[in-house]
Amino acid sequence: MRELEERIRRDGIVEDGDVLKVDGFLNHQMDVELFGAMGREWARLFAGEGVNKILTIEASGIGIACIAAQAFGVPVVFAKKSRTKNIAGDVYRVEVPSFTHGTVSTVIVSRRFLLPGDRLLLIDDFLANGAALEGLIALAGQAGAQIVGAGVAIEKAFQPGGDRIRAKGVRVESLARIKSMSPGQIEFC
Ligand code: 5GP
Repeated sequence: MRELEERIRRDGIVEDGDVLKVDGFLNHQMDVELFGAMGREWARLFAGEGVNKILTIEASGIGIACIAAQAFGVPVVFAKKSRTKNIAGDVYRVEVPSFTHGTVSTVIVSRRFLLPGDRLLLIDDFLANGAALEGLIALAGQAGAQIVGAGVAIEKAFQPGGDRIRAKGVRVESLARIKSMSPGQIEFC
C-alpha cells in the first residue's frame, strides 16, 4: 500500500537488531486516518470470505485491529497477556516469545469469545519471525475456529515469519513488505 510505504519512508527509524520504529504513526502516536485506509484495504482483499471476527494480540495490534473491524463490521478479540500463573480452565492459552522484548508471555483468550464456527481474520502490526501470528493460529486451533487469513501492516520480508506462516497454508496480506533496511535506507519488495 503506497500510502503506508511512503509514511514508513518518511517517519520510520531503523534501529539496531532489525527493529523498525514507527511510533510516530503506528505504535505510540496513532494515525487513525491511515489506519482507516489500511482497514479498507484489508476489507477489499478479504471481501466475500465471511470474516465474522478479528483476532489480534495485546498490545500493539489492538489499535489497527479496532479500526479494521469497523471496515468489516465485526468485533475484535485480543489475546491478553496473562499475569497470573494459575489460569482457570475457561480460557485458551499459548506461550508467545516477544520479538522486541526478548521475553515470553502467556497469552489467553476466553473460551466465550472464540467459537468453532468463527471465521477469523488475524491482524498484527508487524510480521518478523512469526511467533505472534503462530500464537494466534494456535489459539484459533484450540477453539476449532477457522482462519481466513492474516492482515499485517508491516512485514519484514527478510525475516522468516512470512514464509513460516504461509507454509501453514495461511493467506498473509501485508500492506508494506520490507525487502531490506539499514539506518536511513528502507527498500520495499
Ligand atoms: P514476530 O512474532 O513475528 O517475531 O514479531 C511480531 C511482533 O513483534 C509484533 O507484534 C510487533 O509488536 C513486534 N515487532 C516485530 N518486529 C518489529 C519491529 O521492527 N518494530 C516494532 N515496532 N515492532 C516489531
